[in-house]
Amino acid sequence: MNSLLLAIASAYLLISLLRGLVDFANLRYALKAGVPEEFAGLVDGEKFQKSQAYLAASTRFSLWHRLVTTAAALGFLQLGGFGAIDRIALSFGYGPIPTALLYFLGLGALDQLLELPFSWAHTFVLEQKFGFNRSTYATFFGDLLKGWALGILLGGLLLGGVLAFFLYGGANAWLWAWLAFTAFQLLVTFLAPVLLLPLFNRFEPLPAGELRSAIEAYAAKVDFRLQGIFTMDGSKRSSRANAFFTGFGRFRRIVLFDTLIQQHSVPELVAVLAHEVGHFKKKHILKMMAIAIASSLLMFWLLSLILQSEALSRALGFPTLNLEAAFTAASWLYAPFSLLASFLTSAVSRSHEFEADAYAAASTGAAGELSAALKRLSIENLSNLNPHPWKVRLDYSHPPVVQRVRALAALGRG
Ligand SMILES: [Zn+2]
Repeated sequence: MNSLLLAIASAYLLISLLRGLVDFANLRYALKAGVPEEFAGLVDGEKFQKSQAYLAASTRFSLWHRLVTTAAALGFLQLGGFGAIDRIALSFGYGPIPTALLYFLGLGALDQLLELPFSWAHTFVLEQKFGFNRSTYATFFGDLLKGWALGILLGGLLLGGVLAFFLYGGANAWLWAWLAFTAFQLLVTFLAPVLLLPLFNRFEPLPAGELRSAIEAYAAKVDFRLQGIFTMDGSKRSSRANAFFTGFGRFRRIVLFDTLIQQHSVPELVAVLAHEVGHFKKKHILKMMAIAIASSLLMFWLLSLILQSEALSRALGFPTLNLEAAFTAASWLYAPFSLLASFLTSAVSRSHEFEADAYAAASTGAAGELSAALKRLSIENLSNLNPHPWKVRLDYSHPPVVQRVRALAALGRG
C-alpha cells in the first residue's frame, strides 16, 4: 500500500471509528439517565424503557451498518476495486463522458446492493419490532425502483453536465461546473414539490374546517402568504408524525403528515405550523441553501486540484488519470471536510430551530401548546430524551427536545 493510499484509508477509518465511538458513548449515557424532569408524569416507566430499548436496538443496527460499510469500502480500495470497474467501463470503448457515466453506474449499483439488506432490515425488522413500520413490501420496493430511476435520470443528467464542463471548460471549468450544479439543484428544489414528491406520497390541500380556519387566521395575523397547506399520507410508510416546509417561490408549501393531525389538538397544530412559518420568516431556508452552495464550491475547487494529480488516481488503483478517477479521489478526500461541515451545519440548524420555536411562541402566544406538541412527538417517536452532548454536536439537526422545552419555558417567564 503506498503512503498516499494509506493516508486516505486511515483518515476514513478514523472518521468511522470516531462516529462509532460517539454512538456507543451516546447509548451508555442515555441508558444511565432517568426521565427528565420536564417529562415527569408524561412518560411512564414502561414507555421510557421502551425508548431506551429502541435506542439500544437502533444503535446496534447503525454500528453493524457502519462496520460492514467501512470494511467493504476499505477492502474495495485495497483490492483495487475502483480501477477494476474503470477498466470494465473503458473496455466498451466509448468517449470520456459515457465511460465515466458507466463507471458511476457500476459503482452505484454495487453500493445499492450493499445497502439493500440494511434498508430492508431497518424497515421490516427494526421499525417493525417497535411498531413504527406501516410500509408494505410493494411500497418498499416501489420506492426503491422509483429512487433508482430518478437517481439514474437526474444523477446522469447532472453528472453528464458537470463532466462536460470539466472536459471542455478550460482553466475555470470548476467554476462553470459549480454554477451549473447550483442552477440544477435550485431548479430541482423549486420543482420537487410538484414533480418529485408526488411520486412517493399523496398530497391533498388541507380540507376546510376548524384546523384550516385556525391556520388561515394565524397566517393573516402574521402576514404570511399561504401558498398551500397540504396533508401528506405519511401513514403509508410509518406511524411517525412530522411537518415540514418545502420548496420556494410559487410552489413552496407547508406539509402536515396525516399522522400529526391525528395525534394533536388544533392549537398544538397551529403552534407547529407557526414554527414552520418561523423558518420562513427568519430566512432559514435561504441561509441553509447558501451554506450548501458554498460547501459545494469547496468541493468543486478540490476537484479542480485533483484533476491535475496523476499520483492520486494511481494510488486509488485507476489505470489512468481521467474524470472518474478525479471524482472518486475527491469524494475520498472530502470525507474529513464533510465531518467538519456536519459539525457546522448542524450547529447552525439547531440555532435555527430555537429561533423558529421562539417565533412560534411569540406569534401565537402559545408556548405551552408548542411545548406539549414537542413532548408528545418525542414520546410517540421514542426519541432519546437524554442524548450525549457529543452526539448532539455531531448529528443533531434539531436540539434535544428537553432543551427546546426549557427554552420555551424561559420565554414564557421572560
Ligand atoms: Zn424546525
